[in-house]
Parts: sequence; C-alpha cells; structure tokens
Amino acid sequence: MTLNKSLVWFRRDLRAYDHAALHHALTASGQVYCVFIYDTTILAPLPRDDRRVSFIHASIAELDAELREMGGALLVRHADPVEAIPALAAELGVDAVFTNNDYEPGAIARDGAVAARLKADGRAFHGYKDQVIFEKDEVLTLAAQPFSVFTPYKNAWLKRLAAQPDSLDPFDIAPHASGFAPPLPWTALPTLAELGFDPADTHVATGMDGAAAMFDGFLERIEQYATARDFPAVAGTSSLSVHLRFGTISIRHLVRTVQAMLGYGGGGAGAPVWLSELIWREFYAMILYRHPHVGERSFKPAYDAIEWESGPDADELFAAWCEGRTGYPLVDAAMAQINQTGFMHNRLRMVTASFLVKDLGIDWRWGERYFALKLIDYDMASNTGGWQWAASTGCDAQPYFRIFNPVTQSERFDPDGEFIRRYVPQLASMGRKQIHAPWLHERKGAARDYPAPIVAHDEARKKTLARFDVVKAAA
Ligand code: FAD
Repeated sequence: MTLNKSLVWFRRDLRAYDHAALHHALTASGQVYCVFIYDTTILAPLPRDDRRVSFIHASIAELDAELREMGGALLVRHADPVEAIPALAAELGVDAVFTNNDYEPGAIARDGAVAARLKADGRAFHGYKDQVIFEKDEVLTLAAQPFSVFTPYKNAWLKRLAAQPDSLDPFDIAPHASGFAPPLPWTALPTLAELGFDPADTHVATGMDGAAAMFDGFLERIEQYATARDFPAVAGTSSLSVHLRFGTISIRHLVRTVQAMLGYGGGGAGAPVWLSELIWREFYAMILYRHPHVGERSFKPAYDAIEWESGPDADELFAAWCEGRTGYPLVDAAMAQINQTGFMHNRLRMVTASFLVKDLGIDWRWGERYFALKLIDYDMASNTGGWQWAASTGCDAQPYFRIFNPVTQSERFDPDGEFIRRYVPQLASMGRKQIHAPWLHERKGAARDYPAPIVAHDEARKKTLARFDVVKAAA
C-alpha cells in the first residue's frame, strides 16, 4: 500500500462490483472515499423531467446502499466537477483521485482540467479502462493504425481477446472492503427536487439489481436473438443499453458470460450476434476517441459538402418527424416510442434516421441532437456512429444509394402491424396488409384523420441520389 487516502470519482460506472478504479484505489490506499457529481454544466440545459436524471438518481441510491453495506458511502455533489473534485480532494486530504476513463471529447477535456488542478496541489489523477474490453490503441491494424471498418476491427478484437482472456477478469471489490473510509456525517443524498428535477418514468429497471434481472431474463431468450432482434414488436433484444451507458452492469461480466456460453456450445445462433453488437459499441467508442470530429462533422470530410434542406419548409418537415406525423406509420410509431419512453428499437433507429436524412433531406446532425435529447441510453459515440452510418457519411457507411423504403421496412419487420398499433392506436382498425401504407386504402373512424405522407418516397429517393452526387467520387 502506497497511499494514505484516495478518492474514487464515479461517472459512467455506477456499480459496486467489478469496478477498475475502485479496485485499484482500494488496493493502493489506506482509506478510500467515493463521490458522484451531478455535473451542473451537463444538467443545466436538460428538461425538468429528464429520464436520465431519474435513472441516475435511483441508481446512485442503490450504489450508496451497497457501499454502506461494505463500510463506505457515496458523497454526492451538485457542481462543476472541474471545481468540485480538486476542492473535495483538498477537503478530504487525499493523495490521489481514481476514476474510469471516459472517451468523449468533452470528458477528456474536463478530466485534463481536473488532473492539472490536482497536480498543482500535489495530488495524482489516475484513469483506468473499465467501460470497454479494449480501448484506444489496443485493437489496431497490422500497420498499427486504427481501423475504420467494422468487420476487420471485430476480427482483430476477437483475436486479441483469445490471446488475452484475462481482459475479462473482474476487478474485485468486496475482499478489499476494509479500505472504505467510514461514512462522513454530511452524506445525505440530494433529492430530485433539490437538484431542480421532477421524477420521470424511466420505463426500465434501474441500478445494478435492475440490470442483473434484465440480463438474466435476456439469457433465456439469447438463442433467438439473431432473428428476433429485428422485430420491434417482440422483446428480442436485451434493452441493456442504458445499463451499459451508466455502468450499472459490467461489460466484462457480459462478455465473460457469453464467452462461457460459446465455450460449451450454448447460446445458439444468437450469442455470437449479440457479442458482435457489444463489439460495435467498442468500435464506435474507439472511432470517437481517435476521430473526435465525428461528433460535429462527417467522418469522411468530402461528405461535409452535401447540401441539406434548410429554411421554414425543412423546419416544418423536421417538426413532423420529431412529433411522429410523417404519414409513414412505422416512422411515426418509432417516434412515438422515443417520445413516450426514451427508448427506440435499433431497427427503428435505422429506419427513422434514414427517413430523416434520405427522405426529408435533413442534416443528420439535427436528428442526432434530437436523439441526444430524448434517448435514455444516449451515448455520443454510438449515436453519432449510428447516425453517420444511416446518413452514409460515416466509417463503414452503407453506400449512399442504399435507401431504406419506409413501407417495405414496415411490411418486413412489423408484418402484422403490431408495433404500429401499439404506438399509433389511431390506425388500430387497419388490416395487417393495409396498415403499412394507409393512404392507399379505404379508412374507417379515427384512421381517416391520420396524416397523408409528407413526402413521396420515390421522388425523395431521386432527390437524395442527386444530393449525394457531390460525393460520388469519394464514395
Ligand atoms: P441489444 O441488441 O441487446 O445489444 C446489446 C448492446 O450492444 C446494446 O445495449 C448496446 O450497448 C450495444 N449495441 C447494439 N447495437 C449497437 C450499435 N449499432 N452500435 C453501438 N452499440 C450497439 N446505442 C446507444 O447505446 N446509445 C445511443 O445513443 C445510440 N444511438 C443510436 C442512433 C442510431 C441512429 C442508431 C442506428 C443506433 C444507435 N444506437 C445507440 C445503437 C443501438 O440502436 C442501441 O444500442 C440498441 O438499440 C439498444 O438496445 P438493446 O440494449 O436492446 O441492444
């Protein structure tokens, strides 16, 4: 043991098991304090009923209770961390701050500022890999360059895991629990109202317990994942994205479980496909880290020359998309899902993103920002990655001439219109064949008031192909 006292700063890692920074702090220090900061610079622009704040609030309460069972506690502040972390470190007299790496450009700048202030006070700042299996420069091409295409990245990722199976070893906490500093008298958690927020329905179980129960439930269905995952009316996916976003479940635990399954021939066709999705998450985290401009600009610079629609007509089309009144039932049902629950099924994220960019001709960044506002699982790397994939402006882009048809997508992935009926009840009376394109059929009752399509797909398709002419040479 080399340090007297340390402080662990929790961010996207709201759990009390298999936690890299906490493990390293406990094994290196005599006494360990824990803190979470509600970052005023992030919270200020959010609506009062933001679902993420409610999710964090509930998960923090569970984390504090777990830490207390082990003899510690969670300090919670509502502040700008660049000020608050160095101030708290000084107040507690710690030698070092331990935390897990965050790869978003804003977080990297924030951590740099915190580290510089701590250093000026003679304290250390230690960052650890925790939210991914392989980070930054760990999966590279033979020429030691970052990958920009998914499949070779995935193959190299799997090869590295085979060579380094200990990358999945858990970072133990409980055996080192004697290192927790006892709770301080001033550790009451703030209420949502004290933070300036109202309770919101998260539509998903919160905290470590919620995540564990959801993963258990998913393991019973994982064999069907390869096919069921594309049908939004079915509970075919894990819905764990919010837990991966906030670290209420350990990525090592997930990958270890799937690897063990694959080892004994379990998990059917679903397990390797699900593992692939977890690797997509790491691919996009690496892309954002290596190419931070993807948050703002096209991955391929030539694509910044595309001229998107603008002006009052574009504003109106965008409003219709946001509010789910495009006249395309699957698109409208998907937008109702994100607006009502803060979640949208992956197939529908692809369909709605494609519709905004390639049917309405609107800049992918408008849609990316709308998702950022609404999604409970919003993650800058996956969101910009997903949007640039759909807009064909990103790495591994689908070619721009591949344009989703919102009606055939609907017929294929919601064949009975079950999902549409759930989120656009106005169309409940339509038959299973007619519901995908109501304007072509006789309508009864409330279905008569359902809007006509705001754009004709075939014409929009031609316009998009012309719009993308400027990048033909680069495609
Ligand atoms: P599952 O199918 O069970 O997959 C397991 C996990 O793998 C997910 O929880 C997620 O962490 C990861 N994953 C799955 N698909 C992808 C993918 N395509 N890219 C990266 N990681 C993936 N995911 C986010 O977590 N946050 C976002 O902000 C986000 N925005 C997106 C925007 C668009 C336009 C698109 C097309 C995709 C976006 N995704 C985002 C990826 C994907 O849609 C969600 O991760 C997925 O729908 C979450 O549901 P699930 O947990 O049931 O996923």
